[in-house]
Amino acid sequence: MKRQTIKTSLFTLTSTAALMTFGSASVHASGEINVYSARSEALIKPLLDIYAKENNVKVNLITGKADALLNRLKSEGDASPADVFITVDAGRLYRAKEAGVLQPFETKHLNKVIPEHLKDRDGYWYGLSQRARVILYNPETVSASDLSTYEDLADPKWKGKICIRSSSNIYNQSLVASMIEADGEKQTLEWIKGLVANFARPPAGGDTDQIKAAAAGVCDIAVANTYYFGRLGLSNKASDRAVFDKLKMFWPNQADNERGAHVNVSGIGITASANNKDNAKQLIDFLTSQQSQEWYAKVNNEYPVIDGVAPPKSLATFGEFKADKVSLSVLGENNRQAVKLMDQGGWK
Ligand code: FE
Repeated sequence: MKRQTIKTSLFTLTSTAALMTFGSASVHASGEINVYSARSEALIKPLLDIYAKENNVKVNLITGKADALLNRLKSEGDASPADVFITVDAGRLYRAKEAGVLQPFETKHLNKVIPEHLKDRDGYWYGLSQRARVILYNPETVSASDLSTYEDLADPKWKGKICIRSSSNIYNQSLVASMIEADGEKQTLEWIKGLVANFARPPAGGDTDQIKAAAAGVCDIAVANTYYFGRLGLSNKASDRAVFDKLKMFWPNQADNERGAHVNVSGIGITASANNKDNAKQLIDFLTSQQSQEWYAKVNNEYPVIDGVAPPKSLATFGEFKADKVSLSVLGENNRQAVKLMDQGGWK
């Protein structure tokens, strides 16, 4: 038996069918798919429910923290019941590929709709939703004309004005990985030192905390992912909406000779142990369909990975942007070096 007993209690059953016992032949049954997701249930289950209903496939979902889920996949090995793995950030998707828990695949649909730079170069994972890492600023204290690039954030004119989270965060590691690609290691190390010298405070908290700190006057500039800002604008808490109203979003590196804003993805791969590979492909095609991509924009304020879908409404006033088209595979490949440089540069 390849499969082992798994804890039913950990599964969220998305079909309305009666609870089934895992660890039996049911795991092998066709018309079924097992999803491990590092995204919260609210950010995936509604789509899985639609897919399950439309295709008469039973979808079993386990959610967990990104690193814990990857470790679980590794330790389960061939016995893992998972068919697909969903996680956030190309750096983490790369780690999953390197760990041997994914397998390459393609579909006609994916080949057609997913841009080259938003998927693994060997087909081990594909982007599901896109976000940019941008500059949020207080227009009362910062003039947009003084902002330009990520590189410029190391300029001494920003001394004591910048909030950004710690170097242990994968989003920052991937940003630095993209800068290594664009500017080289030596220049990136100098950039890190300059940026750290401009910190308003030692890094603490997540992206939302940096945005709130900028609105509260702790700093004038925050670096964060787009959806965290968009989310505040749609919050039912007046204090969150006040934060959104107080700040503006700036797209870095937009000039003609610049590479564009750093983007990253939430992404999906088929596990090496998958028993339901055909269902997995069908599900991934569904998640990259027009319908699903619209849902990501609406529910999590994320940008689509396919053409022809409107950007999130909450961020529409900030317009279109030019994205850095560097292959996201490179972010994973440069991750180790990025972490090393951040350490050397004193980014806590
Ligand atoms: Fe996030």
